[in-house]
Amino acid sequence: MNKTYYVCKYTPIELLQAFGGECEIFNHMPEGFDLADQVAHPNICGFGKALLEEVLSSEIRELVLVNCCDTIRSVYDILLDSGKLDFLYLLDLLHCDSACSQERMALQLKNLAKAYGAYKGTEFDEQVFRASFQEKEKVLTPHIGVFGARMGAELFEMTQSAMPLPVENETCVHNRSVGYARLPEDGDFDALMSWYAKELMGQMPCMRMNDPTGRKKLYQDPSLKGIIYHTVKFCDFYSFEYADIKNHTDVPILKIESDYTIQSSGQLLTRLEAFAESLDTGSLTEKEDRKEEHRMGKGYFAGIDSGSTSTDVVILNKEKQIVADIILRPGQAQHRG
Ligand code: SF4
Ligand code: SF4
Repeated sequence: MNKTYYVCKYTPIELLQAFGGECEIFNHMPEGFDLADQVAHPNICGFGKALLEEVLSSEIRELVLVNCCDTIRSVYDILLDSGKLDFLYLLDLLHCDSACSQERMALQLKNLAKAYGAYKGTEFDEQVFRASFQEKEKVLTPHIGVFGARMGAELFEMTQSAMPLPVENETCVHNRSVGYARLPEDGDFDALMSWYAKELMGQMPCMRMNDPTGRKKLYQDPSLKGIIYHTVKFCDFYSFEYADIKNHTDVPILKIESDYTIQSSGQLLTRLEAFAESLDTGSLTEKEDRKEEHRMGKGYFAGIDSGSTSTDVVILNKEKQIVADIILRPGQAQHRG
């Protein structure tokens, strides 16, 4: 089955799932913009180019966009013109959380439901819709936050491995918080969409919203020990916020910019590592332990000792506990643990 890709936290993914859609965030950084540069203006932001590059060169067939900015509108026009996608939709929302914008969003949701249901050949499944909401767990332990404009998956992974504390991605689509209010127990489709529109528009605003003051919560969290502020080349919106954060928090901040290519991320590694070293995140031993935990991740590790009479293999988990071992002799195997 084709996946439906999306790029914005205001995308109604629970609605798409209720019509049988399988939704996935698009956040990939390509090697370069060979295809995008042929079809788009050079001044659209790196993310817009990354999106064009990937859609034009991959098997992506379904994409739902939101009228975020001129870049996204241009990307929509170019992709529509290319005829590459089977399903391409642009949600046209107002950039504020007023009663009027909620009403408009509810209408947009109903139009999208009609178009997506017709495309998939499916009906709205209320049970699936109700079960699709997932509350994001709030991190209460010391952590580093990535703020600003969206950060590509590859750069985020690199950031995680460079930092001495867990890293939370608070950018754009990753900072989604929909479905925290109680769903109406009964009511028709229209009533559900009104509730849903309110939830979508009531999220912590991104910088594209007219009133982004609610974003202060992001950097007033006492467990926040460092901020990596990311901007994307040719995106201006987030530069204003950087100045405001600098004036309102004592948390150490590193500002970085990427053009959304893998190459630009590689160049940022040295700065990320220097920032990680400068953070006061506990004793040297604690830092080393955390680094070790990052290094080991969730995986398992094998130790192999191959001698003349047997080969001994031990599997350890990340807590360094033996989870299995085996001794192999020529023609014989013995398993312990
Ligand atoms: S900046 Fe805001 S409107 Fe634009 S894609 Fe991100 S969350 Fe959506
Ligand atoms: S990074 Fe900036 S310009 Fe690019 S899509 Fe996001 S908000 Fe628009």
